[in-house]
Amino acid sequence: MDLLYTPRQEAFRKEARAWLEAHVPPEPLPSFDTQEGFEAHRRWEAELHAGGWAMVPWPVEYGGRGGDLFEWLIFEEEYYRAGAPGRVNQNGLFLLGPTIMEYGTPEQKARFLPPMASSEEVWAQGWSEPNAGSDMANIQATALLEGEHYVLRGQKTWASRGAYAHWLFGMFRSDPGSSRHHGLTFLLVPLDIPGVSVRPIRKLNGKAAFAEIFFDGARVPVGNRLGADGQGWEIAMATAGFERGLMLRSPARFQSAAHRLVALYRETLRSGRPVDPGVRQRVARCWMEAEAYALNTYQTVSRLRAGGRIGFEASLNKIFWSELDVRMHETALELLGVRAELLPEAPASQGVGDWLDGYLFALSGPIYAGTNEIQRNIIAERILGLPRK
Ligand SMILES: Cc1cc2nc3c(=O)[nH]c(=O)nc-3n(C[C@H](O)[C@H](O)[C@H](O)COP(=O)(O)OP(=O)(O)OC[C@H]3O[C@@H](n4cnc5c(N)ncnc54)[C@H](O)[C@@H]3O)c2cc1C
Repeated sequence: MDLLYTPRQEAFRKEARAWLEAHVPPEPLPSFDTQEGFEAHRRWEAELHAGGWAMVPWPVEYGGRGGDLFEWLIFEEEYYRAGAPGRVNQNGLFLLGPTIMEYGTPEQKARFLPPMASSEEVWAQGWSEPNAGSDMANIQATALLEGEHYVLRGQKTWASRGAYAHWLFGMFRSDPGSSRHHGLTFLLVPLDIPGVSVRPIRKLNGKAAFAEIFFDGARVPVGNRLGADGQGWEIAMATAGFERGLMLRSPARFQSAAHRLVALYRETLRSGRPVDPGVRQRVARCWMEAEAYALNTYQTVSRLRAGGRIGFEASLNKIFWSELDVRMHETALELLGVRAELLPEAPASQGVGDWLDGYLFALSGPIYAGTNEIQRNIIAERILGLPRK
């Protein structure tokens, strides 16, 4: 691993910084968990795409920039530095995109990747069901083959941005006699076809960010199947690897939060408000851990470039970033004192409300992308080789 950037990478950083400085909206967009904010974020994605920045590591023919994963990391650093909007199509771009790249046919790549890159089509992830969260192998929603179509029945839940998304990627039981992780198939499902109904669910912050999705005889062409019939579990595990191990939460997100935390600490000292000496240590620790996560990610990318694959260590990664996120926000709330109770909409929040909003979301980090208890089970069994019972 070479810790120095090449002249080419430095030039790439300069180009990305200049573009972002010229294009990032000066005011934050409304939350993408509202209809208005969802559309505003799609317009931003269209602008990113037109500039060639939608997905740095994807081939140009699919709407990417033809860069590599190092350039993607550099772009992410510049993206967060510029305070650019959240990525409304992250489930598509960061999870499904790499999966289609690996398992899709040439026709599927040509059909699905370009409108994903431009966010003309926004994707939701449809894995969880009321009785299949941590126990994902208990999926009950079915997709039974009838001629050239799969006929879908059952329910998915907790689909992020499912209330507004256009498509869903999900796992369905295609072999009715199967159990557990056998007989599952990975399907790409339009959400506007007959037999699909979407019911929004409100989040802790009151916004309709999730949806539960019901299937009652919806017909999906066989061509929308990723991989083979019954290969769903294997493909979903590859998606989960990208999600936990690399793409979903790039280090820049935490480095930028750490910088904001240090700034908040300095501002608190300047204001003369009393600060517990232990908080100083915690601020420094958060900053160091964000840097450590960045170095670890650069190492992962070096390994991938040398032909490696993401394995069970993705679980270590997921625990690290999700718990760091909670610690950073808790530390910020402690520094803010009574101001910690202000949400961004509060007239007196003066920019500090994002910490409470971020904290509420950080609390879900140890739950989504597979709970941290489940990640600890995976580490125990698959990395440490401990007995299952
Ligand atoms: C913000 C957010 C966004 C999400 N987005 C999506 C999405 O877009 N698409 C999607 O499909 N899902 C999504 N989810 C759902 C998420 O994947 C599930 O909530 C998660 O997998 C846990 O499943 P569950 O909620 O059914 O809890 P359960 O599985 O019922 O777990 C309840 C508790 O029991 C613990 N537990 C369960 N089994 C074990 C075990 N064997 N050993 C130890 N502890 C155990 C869990 O860790 C948890 O603490 C999202 C969730 C959140 C919070």
